[in-house]
Amino acid sequence: MSSTRKLLRSNFLLILFIAASCSPPDDPVKCSTKDSDCTITNCYGMFPDRSTCRAGNVAYPGTEEEIVSIVSAATKAGKKMKVVTSFAHSIPKLACPDGVDGLLISTKYLNHVVNVDAAAMTMTVESGMALSQLIEEAAKAGLALPYAPYWSGATIGGILSTGSHGSSLWGKGSAVHDYVIGMRIVSPGGPDEGYAKIRILNESHEDLNAAKVSLGVLGVISQHEFADMSWYPSQRQVVYRVDDRVSPDVSGEGLYDFTGFRDTLSLVAESIRTTEETQESNGLDELKCVSAGVTTTILGAIAYGLTNNGIIFTGYPVIGYQNRLQSSSSCVNSPEDGLITACPWDPRIKGEFFHQTTFKISLSVVQSFIEDVQSLVALEPKSLCGLELYNGILMRYVKASSAYLGSQEDALDFDITYYRSKDPLTPRLYEDILEEIEQMAVFKYGGLPHWGKNRNIAFDGVFKKYRNVTEFLKFRVGKGMLAARGIK
Ligand SMILES: Cc1cc2nc3c(=O)[nH]c(=O)nc-3n(C[C@H](O)[C@H](O)[C@H](O)COP(=O)(O)OP(=O)(O)OC[C@H]3O[C@@H](n4cnc5c(N)ncnc54)[C@H](O)[C@@H]3O)c2cc1C
Repeated sequence: MSSTRKLLRSNFLLILFIAASCSPPDDPVKCSTKDSDCTITNCYGMFPDRSTCRAGNVAYPGTEEEIVSIVSAATKAGKKMKVVTSFAHSIPKLACPDGVDGLLISTKYLNHVVNVDAAAMTMTVESGMALSQLIEEAAKAGLALPYAPYWSGATIGGILSTGSHGSSLWGKGSAVHDYVIGMRIVSPGGPDEGYAKIRILNESHEDLNAAKVSLGVLGVISQHEFADMSWYPSQRQVVYRVDDRVSPDVSGEGLYDFTGFRDTLSLVAESIRTTEETQESNGLDELKCVSAGVTTTILGAIAYGLTNNGIIFTGYPVIGYQNRLQSSSSCVNSPEDGLITACPWDPRIKGEFFHQTTFKISLSVVQSFIEDVQSLVALEPKSLCGLELYNGILMRYVKASSAYLGSQEDALDFDITYYRSKDPLTPRLYEDILEEIEQMAVFKYGGLPHWGKNRNIAFDGVFKKYRNVTEFLKFRVGKGMLAARGIK
């Protein structure tokens, strides 16, 4: 990954309260003994199908040699394996090893910088490193990752496996995997290979395109470099974010600590959830719309978590270094405080519980999709207020990628977050409208679902949408993950 450290002027135009410390997320893997008879969940404590995933064992390698030895022993014993990170921030059941005897291989202790080459502007890191750590380490060397997901509490392995991205059509685009110039992958091998092998891929290997996005198996376009939009369909409003580079001579200590990713007082998160549950169970759509309007007004007033100096927001433009503005996850990195505060969705408190439908639609047809959604809102004006409580529909640019499972065309990515009931049999308000949007996106407009979000229906027939899927399948090492997501 490479680029120079950049000073950015940010003109971008959620709700929770900040405390001095926070309870970092719980470990997604729990075992009845030290490392056996385990369960694995995601950071929300619930997979889309609400089932519990069990695994026989978990292993915590600290070096590549240890990974080889673990993979070798498990392959010899015929065990199914899955990689689990210390966060499990993906919604789908990606890390479930498909069978109670399966083995989880955790990247928790694989979080070191291997090499920094400031002259070549490249870094080599272990796959369990958090994006926040990568950004920090790069900055120390005067480097910056050009584009990143907005959430820095994910690991590099997880980000690459699910094709995670920020927003841009410039240069190589916004997906992190398009900045990868080499990878080392440990896969099962035959007896003559000692049941495990290391595959070393660099830019001259076509297989790098298979490995970059591996699923763990192995209007008018803005002229600005970064741009995204938050669309509030029921309010008929869009907030545009515009970022520009400025000369390094321009001083600025701006910081983006997105309010929705901050440590939140558990009592506040619980009271917001109780209000949402009351509105949902009593069909109070009018009130939901009022709450949505209040939420977006407050968010705008507090500049979404932007500050000009790391403490206070005094006005736009906010100027600062790329590493301080591009991505945030402060609720993950704060010290333990006994759950007085937590990430707003932490399943140990009764806070946010939502679902996300996220897909990329080709720029050639995206206008029609947006018009279809507008027509639905015209029919049911209050139907999408609920998702405006989660800062509306986030729209980001993703460029066509050479990765076999990356974006197939230049596209607009839509992130839709909305209420989920704790009771599996209770539908959400206007569920029909939300499902119609999902169906239009995925089937009518051939949208590509984000690999790390969505429920299973979004992946129905998904491989037919990828030109080089055969090349990917040739490289794949196991069928377990695909079966787990209902992909044959
Ligand atoms: C609050 C929040 C905000 C988000 N914002 C964005 C965003 O702005 N843009 C975006 O695109 N996405 C976003 N996401 C989605 C997120 O980037 C992905 O879900 C990402 O995969 C999570 O990374 P993780 O480290 O938790 O991986 P996990 O969810 O634990 O793992 C994902 C997959 O990667 C595999 N895997 C992980 N490491 C390895 C490895 N070393 N080798 C092989 N396989 C591996 C796992 O087996 C699994 O299949 C967000 C998620 C959250 C929770």
